[in-house]
Amino acid sequence: MEQPIVPIVEGQPAARPIQRPAASAATTNLCHGRPGDPCCFSTRVSGQRARYQDVSRQCPWCNAALLQAGLTSERGRGQLSRSLRFFWGHDKAVYHKAVGRLPETVRLHWPLQVLGLSAAFHSAASLRTAVATSQGRGRILAMLRKRQAADPDLVAEAFKAIPAEHLEDFEARLAQEPRRVRQARRRAAAETVEQRWERLLAHRRRLRGPALPEAEAATYSRRATEDRVRVRRKFFPARPKEVRHTGRQWSNPWTDEAAESVRDVADNDTGLPRAAITPFATMLEDWCKQGAWAICERCFSLEPRHLKEVDTRRVADPAVPNCRWCRRDGVESVPTVDRVPRQLRGLCHDVVAALRPFDIDCGPYQRPPHGYRVHTALLRLLWSDTDVEAKIAALEHRTWRTKAKKAFKFLMQHSCSEYRNFVTQHRRFLRDHPMPTDAARRRPLQTLETPGIETALWPDLYYNSDLCESEVDILKGHVDNIAPQAAGSGGRGLLMRYVATYNVKFSSSFHNEMLADTGVSGYGMALRILSTLHPSEPEMWVTLFKQLFPDFALGGTMLPIVAPWPTMDAQPEFVRRYEECLWRSDSMSLLEYLRKTNAAGEVVAWIQKLHAAADSALDLGEFA
Ligand SMILES: [Zn+2]
Ligand SMILES: [Zn+2]
Ligand SMILES: [Zn+2]
Repeated sequence: MEQPIVPIVEGQPAARPIQRPAASAATTNLCHGRPGDPCCFSTRVSGQRARYQDVSRQCPWCNAALLQAGLTSERGRGQLSRSLRFFWGHDKAVYHKAVGRLPETVRLHWPLQVLGLSAAFHSAASLRTAVATSQGRGRILAMLRKRQAADPDLVAEAFKAIPAEHLEDFEARLAQEPRRVRQARRRAAAETVEQRWERLLAHRRRLRGPALPEAEAATYSRRATEDRVRVRRKFFPARPKEVRHTGRQWSNPWTDEAAESVRDVADNDTGLPRAAITPFATMLEDWCKQGAWAICERCFSLEPRHLKEVDTRRVADPAVPNCRWCRRDGVESVPTVDRVPRQLRGLCHDVVAALRPFDIDCGPYQRPPHGYRVHTALLRLLWSDTDVEAKIAALEHRTWRTKAKKAFKFLMQHSCSEYRNFVTQHRRFLRDHPMPTDAARRRPLQTLETPGIETALWPDLYYNSDLCESEVDILKGHVDNIAPQAAGSGGRGLLMRYVATYNVKFSSSFHNEMLADTGVSGYGMALRILSTLHPSEPEMWVTLFKQLFPDFALGGTMLPIVAPWPTMDAQPEFVRRYEECLWRSDSMSLLEYLRKTNAAGEVVAWIQKLHAAADSALDLGEFA
């Protein structure tokens, strides 16, 4: 042969420079196969003949010379591996036939490489080296374990390459769950759901410390007690209460019996008797207390869970093996307290405020007697009127001052934080304005868009400028922090909807203030609108959580149909099946029929099961 042969497997762009009409493509240039052994190596329709590309009228899999030549070029190997993967995915018999035609030198290891097994499997020599050490065997085992879940057949292929003396060991170990999983399972089986929650929640820690730990604990327990007393009084009034619109008197004094049925799972639980009237109510209570959230076993992020039908039958396990955060970006992407520099952990709010060269102004505080806080102005930044070190020296408690000094020293020496630059600018400002007026201290609105501004505002959260978010991320972060949403556009859409509906509540003075500032970008404007929403206010929580925890979710399959009418042009398929159905009774309505059939018009599986279980004298049709 004069020309170098580049085998081209059909279906690749190079093989079809011109798009032929479908009819001729289906019948022309099809591989003639081997004598008495027709071709089955199409990479378009599994099991069909492949297209040939040269005078041999054979595809590379049917022509040993073409196959050999293909294996020598990178492009040829690429095309051959793509077709091998296609055969693997569609028909194992075709795959094994193709592999059987590979030259003996590559037959065992090259297909394993093509199917994505680790480098140890790419040659006999590397595999021998890998299985020689227990570490190497461990790595192979871990890799096989991962692949086993998705493609058990692949593990069988890999076993063909493993040296015989190690085979039994690998098979035995792979049949078992990893030790870590077995241990966790044993521990989980011995634990109650409450214990499990407690153990998993212990991994979650606060970065900030309370200003006055004892005072905070006391306030917390006082409020929790007040709440419990209030609900107790509401549902168990000792003295007769009057129902206002009916005038009926009622009382329901607390009894020992009621006290005995209290099943509190935490110190802020209701202290009320357990729901007992129906099992459904009991399960719903369990869902509220234990099933509505899941905790990630790897990064300990919490994720909300929808109320599903199955929650009326079992209490969901607290843990999920990995959450959407570590599934998407790896467990390293989830920030933890351990990774925050020691000097910045456990700072209380007063210390953080002292470390800021800025004051944050949310506008005057206004609140109607029974309402939420009114947005009176946009969030503005002002230079503090005192130097950071002077603010630290003025802190009330000595422990605060010590912590703040250490944190300040750390931040000023930290090379990958913008913090120092903001402090330097602040000092320059104070030098130029020894007695600054409020007007002079006010920063323009776009200061919020300064890169690295987070390091100056929340130095303990953003101890590294790499952690700082672009404005877009902050927008997203707002949603995430308020209501962790499914990743992607879902979260944004939710927030956008909220902002869109919220817009009408802005007063016109707001718009004026925003438009008066020069150099406002679209994102900047959006950011400021969001910054002024005061995200933790109840009204916004309610709006967002309604989306997070819909009132209910239904299992099963939903099929949208158009209700038929007599003069319809084409009778829908499901109506035809309904009319021709032999097993249904005449009294069965179309709707009932649809609920009890599958797509083929047979009785659905759950009714078949019920029928089998009921041991009924009726046949399946009558039973349904
Ligand atoms: Zn062929
Ligand atoms: Zn996670
Ligand atoms: Zn978050």
